[in-house]
Amino acid sequence: MKEFKAESKKLLDLVVNSIYTNREIFLRELISNASDAIDKRRFMSLTDSALAADFCIEIETDAAARTITITDNGVGMNAEELENNLGVIAASGTEAFKKERGKTDAEQLIGQFGVGFYSAFMVAEKVVVISKKAGDTTAYKWESDGASGFEIAEAERADAGTSVILTVKQDADGENYSCYLDKHHIRTLVKKYSDYIRYPIKMLEEKRTDGADGAKAEELITLNSMTPVWKKSKSELKDKELDEFYTHTYRDWNEPIAHISARMEGAVEYTALLFVPSEPSYDYYTKDYKRGLQLYCNGVLIMDKCAELIPEYLGFIRGVVDTPDLALNISREMLQRDRRLAAIASGLEKKILSEFAKMLKNDREKYEKLFVAFSKAIKYGAYDNFGANKDKLKDLLLYYSDKEKKLVTLKEYSEKAAKDSPVLYACGETTEKISMLPQLEGARSAGNDVLYFTDAVDEFIARMLESYDGHKFENIASGKADAASAEGHEELIKRIEAKLGGKAVVCPTDKLKSYPVCLAAKGEVSLEMERIMAAMGGSGIKAERVLQINLDHAVIKGLENLRGEKFDDTVTVLYNEALIAEGYKTEPEFLPAVNRLLASVVEEKRKAPSAKKASGAKKTDTAAESENARPLDENK
Ligand code: ADP
Repeated sequence: MKEFKAESKKLLDLVVNSIYTNREIFLRELISNASDAIDKRRFMSLTDSALAADFCIEIETDAAARTITITDNGVGMNAEELENNLGVIAASGTEAFKKERGKTDAEQLIGQFGVGFYSAFMVAEKVVVISKKAGDTTAYKWESDGASGFEIAEAERADAGTSVILTVKQDADGENYSCYLDKHHIRTLVKKYSDYIRYPIKMLEEKRTDGADGAKAEELITLNSMTPVWKKSKSELKDKELDEFYTHTYRDWNEPIAHISARMEGAVEYTALLFVPSEPSYDYYTKDYKRGLQLYCNGVLIMDKCAELIPEYLGFIRGVVDTPDLALNISREMLQRDRRLAAIASGLEKKILSEFAKMLKNDREKYEKLFVAFSKAIKYGAYDNFGANKDKLKDLLLYYSDKEKKLVTLKEYSEKAAKDSPVLYACGETTEKISMLPQLEGARSAGNDVLYFTDAVDEFIARMLESYDGHKFENIASGKADAASAEGHEELIKRIEAKLGGKAVVCPTDKLKSYPVCLAAKGEVSLEMERIMAAMGGSGIKAERVLQINLDHAVIKGLENLRGEKFDDTVTVLYNEALIAEGYKTEPEFLPAVNRLLASVVEEKRKAPSAKKASGAKKTDTAAESENARPLDENK
């Protein structure tokens, strides 16, 4: 009996004794080893035709003996190789393993390192390997219970290759190991992890014969499809097949909006097949969502969700990347730091964005669908990281246009705008609410277009971009470009400000037509930003509010003549009207003020009932109008 090398023993302990939930990967590991061994032999057979064979991997199960056997006709191992290869941890994992051990718990460790051959001990109480090296005459048997050590002896085996025979553990304490003896389950596992292994993985399966006796025969069935869809040439691939691959692989009812395939040769080689889902998954905007692409190495799945392959803002994209350049057993930790991975990720990001741009140009309808579904993510990308990606993304942004009544790009907006004019925008919760903002009246009557910013992040992006093609961004609520003069109305403005008691300063505006007032913000912090920051947890940053007044409006004109309670109530109602238009809650004094004003209107009517009764509906209106003006005089 030979002892395992010290560190192998430690790893073995971890593998066997931890409650590792992902035991089923043992099959993937053993199949990958078999595939690698065949690769090696196939390579040798190029120069030595005697080594050529009909390469395949075969899985056998024996429920009575509780064994599952994985056989390959690959390169095989001699006694020395059995000892060296299966007696120590694969070199790839060793170093990182040394560094990490003791630091994390066992389960994490095993999750981090591909455990390769050792994973067999997660499900087996005994492992026997019978191998004959290609070109040799003697076969050898390696045997171990995984605990103490291993034994090697001569054995019988007709052809070169390796069989790994696992005696599956007894079910105990709710642990089900027998499932690994179930052919149906094995088939599922092969499909899940090893579907794209280049050699056929075969298993004997029962098949009903056509005879009337219902007799059953056994037949070797190939379990894997071997050619990954992403390895097929474009001409071979039908959209339908891709859609089916997507819906099946990602369990999405809906077909993807688009698929993108990428192939790279050179320093880093990879093939990628990416999909844009029709809508974000239900948890996309939660912390639970895990982005990532499936990472394959030569057809073997090594990571299901490799987040490093896709930037956060494109996290809604699904798909696979297959690269021959990574070692199968590379640890997750080392993978994350792998420069090749970063190179692939940046290649994919470029490819995705150029495909988006192409779609925007050639298939607007499709792009708009994509943008509407993922606008928050894409906009977040433009803002995140201090706007590091803003220039890459600015031409992919779409905003609803007040004038065009549809989504437009910043380019489309600025092409129609006058030279040096600003990119005007208005903020609000929905396009509908924005379209009713009083501030729009000025822009509309001047024939200027206004973009609707409906996402919290929109204005932050505008601040980040500052301008587009020489057109500065300007919030129509900022009151910056107002030309209205306060001359001759200084006293009224002072009186309104006094009533408002510091809640807002008062400025005249020329951008209102039918509205008497609107709310704006002075300085760097807009009302929208104030709201967003409050929603994020109350940073205490406040916008400097400005009540903009339309000096041409009858109500404002009338204010000049009001005093006392009527003046105060009218200012209260006007200020609250501005709040409402901006989507704010009203103040507590609003409704009592409205009620007092209404009462005074009704009172006036009651005082002079006969005049109105005599003169039809139209006259009543006129009378009401004149009455509206009358109380002003009363208060003089
Ligand atoms: P890794 O595959 O990362 O090297 P493993 O522990 O899975 O680590 O395997 C260790 C070594 O054992 C392999 O590198 C290979 O040389 C050898 N080996 C494992 N399985 C087979 C097999 N089926 N045929 C030939 N050699 C094998």
